[in-house]
Amino acid sequence: MFLDSGDTPSFPGCGAAASRIVGGAIASLESVRVGRARRAFHPAGGLHHAHRSRAAGFCIFNDVGVALALATGPGGAYRRVAYVDIDAHHGDGVMYGFFDSGRVLDIDFHQDGRTLFPGTGAVEETGQGDGAGLKANVPLPPGTGDRGFASAFLRVVPTLLRSYRPEIIVLQHGVDGHFGDPLARLRYSASSFSLAVGTLMALAEELCQGRLIVTGGGGYNPRNVARLLAACGFLLSGQYPPEGALPGAWRARFEVETGGRAPANWPNLRPAPAGDPSPRAIRNVVRALSEELGVKFPSARTVR
Ligand SMILES: [Zn+2]
Repeated sequence: MFLDSGDTPSFPGCGAAASRIVGGAIASLESVRVGRARRAFHPAGGLHHAHRSRAAGFCIFNDVGVALALATGPGGAYRRVAYVDIDAHHGDGVMYGFFDSGRVLDIDFHQDGRTLFPGTGAVEETGQGDGAGLKANVPLPPGTGDRGFASAFLRVVPTLLRSYRPEIIVLQHGVDGHFGDPLARLRYSASSFSLAVGTLMALAEELCQGRLIVTGGGGYNPRNVARLLAACGFLLSGQYPPEGALPGAWRARFEVETGGRAPANWPNLRPAPAGDPSPRAIRNVVRALSEELGVKFPSARTVR
């Protein structure tokens, strides 16, 4: 039984499970709002494909969308929230859910929709009404790799965030852009994810008293999902991710729970093997976005 046209299966207890994930997003938002924490981590969340009225793309309820709606709706705590999405798939549920909202700046890095589900997220989709010019899509070609991601991310994100001046930043940290993922072909290594988290932690300090919420998202190789999200947790708590061997007890538990072989080591932060498309392909995407938004981004040379 599917909850949509064939991607999102139902299972006993799925409504309660999906509701708990929404609860995690709300709890994250609340703990930052009341000042119990400056940063919150919700690794089970980031179900960015669910729409306001329907499930989609393995997502039943859009936890992060609910949190953004509470944060920016009537009685909400914030007038300007920046949502950054680095999942390999376009965060269509979030973007269309807030397409006409001036209270959500949405910046989404994803594999070009002409090559991957859900097919949306072209640079021309920049928002409407109060949201006009506040939805920034960066569709990246297959094989983008660490250098391509770093160039696009570092040119686009600081520029748009400093201009918008958010009161809180939300990062959807889907890990299916990793080169070991079976569904997408962006070919990031662990270093791209650290770069995104580290950059947003610094921007949150600069712009909004450090307020940052990070959710999980996609990821279809459990070995990578577990390690990359754990590494993100270390970064958010102000520590470097460990290197070398993973704890034996964790590896044993992983093998019981997944039935697969556990990885031996923490992820390597060295860039993934070559496969990067030409720097020109990335520059063309950033130039197209610059023209659509009427925003000038720093040159590729300045962020190398
Ligand atoms: Zn995804």
